[in-house]
Amino acid sequence: MRLSKYFIPTLKEIPAEAVIPSHQLMLRAGMIRGLSSGIYSLLPMGYRVWKKVMEIIREEMDAIGGMELHLPALNPKDIWEETNRVEAFGDTMFHIKNRDLVLAPTHEEIITHIAQAFVHSYKDMPQIWYQIQTKFRNEPRPKSGVIRSRQFLMKDAYSLDTSWEGLDESYQKHFDAYCRIYERCGLDYFVVGASSGAMGGSGSQEFMVESDAGEDLCAFNMESGYAANIEVATSQLPPVGRVDENPDVEKFATPNAKAIDDLVEQFDLPAERCAKALVYFADEEPWLIFMSGNDQLNEAKLQGALGANTIRPAHDEELLALTGANAGSIGPVNLKTKIRQIADMRLEHANGMVSGANENGFHYRNIDLDRDANIEAYHDLRTVLEGEPDPVKGLPLKVKKAIEVGHIFKLGTKYSEALKANFLDANGKEQPIIMGSYGIGVERIVACHIEQRHDKDGIAWHPSIAPFQVHITGVKVESDLVRESAEKLYDHLEAAGIEVLYDDRAGVSPGFKFKDADLLGMPLNVIVGEKHLKDGNVEIKIRHSGERRIVPVENAVEACKALLEELGG
Ligand code: ATP
Ligand code: MG
Repeated sequence: MRLSKYFIPTLKEIPAEAVIPSHQLMLRAGMIRGLSSGIYSLLPMGYRVWKKVMEIIREEMDAIGGMELHLPALNPKDIWEETNRVEAFGDTMFHIKNRDLVLAPTHEEIITHIAQAFVHSYKDMPQIWYQIQTKFRNEPRPKSGVIRSRQFLMKDAYSLDTSWEGLDESYQKHFDAYCRIYERCGLDYFVVGASSGAMGGSGSQEFMVESDAGEDLCAFNMESGYAANIEVATSQLPPVGRVDENPDVEKFATPNAKAIDDLVEQFDLPAERCAKALVYFADEEPWLIFMSGNDQLNEAKLQGALGANTIRPAHDEELLALTGANAGSIGPVNLKTKIRQIADMRLEHANGMVSGANENGFHYRNIDLDRDANIEAYHDLRTVLEGEPDPVKGLPLKVKKAIEVGHIFKLGTKYSEALKANFLDANGKEQPIIMGSYGIGVERIVACHIEQRHDKDGIAWHPSIAPFQVHITGVKVESDLVRESAEKLYDHLEAAGIEVLYDDRAGVSPGFKFKDADLLGMPLNVIVGEKHLKDGNVEIKIRHSGERRIVPVENAVEACKALLEELGG
């Protein structure tokens, strides 16, 4: 491809709307163009990369027996109502006005609809179906360029099995395929245990790329081999437990205590013996939740524990109506209304606790949660903190930011039960199909790749997904010697099956061309100029390392091939 003819609208300035390097560089390198919040056009240079990523994904999905199909993005709303997911997705789902249609944010329902129609016998399984298709999500805060957009490409795969062992096998195949996909794309990634969120199901793992631009937090300890999304991470923090003395509850005035820290300071209490009360609505039913001291309630864990489609914190007026007090004065004793209660595991059997009196400006002390509260269950509800002992070996947890590039789920029978996708097993008994679902964000692979492989001058592509493998910089192509040598090299490289972007622009200064080559970031830049041609040589610059080699013109094709192989292409 000749640069003089190729459409690459590069930008000299960093666009103000772009904050993170991958977004800035995609715009500067003419790969994408923003259309509206969270909506992007993929320009030729960008789309070349997207297609390479998609091809790698296709190859690895085909290798595990996946069959590619293509599902409609426009869906009747009622099928999503049958699985309660119109509610679960809430405002994130796009609705078509005046029609009972939605734009699909994922495709479990539509896959199950096909399975229900055609997969009736144990002999019809296992199946792995996948697609690479546009997804729509009305993200409340689109940000970081294509990393969180409102229209994006996802590879989504679904497995259908007759047994839980079968699901384990299908899941493992996807796990392995995902590892190969990220490795081939040149991504440095790690895997964490994850929450299933609105998907439902039993187990799930996320594929993560460490990045300051990440919106996920992961807790891990390398030595223990423990890694989990903060939404599910646990630690071995000891329970609060019991104290010997156990007198009756006693009300006391706390006019200046709004937060746990005020209580701790003014009444010389250990923070963990304060039971902080929160009120949440789960599918519009109120719950009173108790946490120890300053432990943070983890909403993902709460949602999982309550098996709710939606959760939200109660508003101030609701708090007052339900408990008779404002936040900071709520507790288990002397409640105004009957409200279901759960607590964090650390509080199980705890006594000697202080908590709100459901009367502003008052608390109770000596609360024995077994004796004085009506807690129906204890769950792990807290967010772990850095430094706490990990659950495997008790070594200190570290917490880092990451971007999720893929997520695999053991769905089980949630969708097959809701949509009656049943099969007859070998004994002629009807059973729901056991399903898995597996997603990869195509945009996020590209963005994370750039996050990991860039410097102040531009992108440094891995050969496997680079738009072109080789960039030829013709230095002063007005010179016959330069132009003829560069043209010949261009032809020979293309004949050898190498994708080349040839900077054949006349009247453009060498410095300007070098800057563009660095910005666009092809793995190799072959510099063809009089300086080295005089001795029959060209210079090859390896973009990622910055290393330079001088090679004879006639060996340049072989040298490029060998270097690309060395670089993993
Ligand atoms: P997140 O937690 O980041 O919102 P998610 O858990 O909703 O993502 P999944 O439903 O698991 O995402 O979707 C599968 C994959 O699709 C994700 O791993 C991610 O790579 C990609 N993806 C999800 N949402 C977006 C988005 N808004 N923009 C770009 N890619 C996305
Ligand atoms: Mg996810």
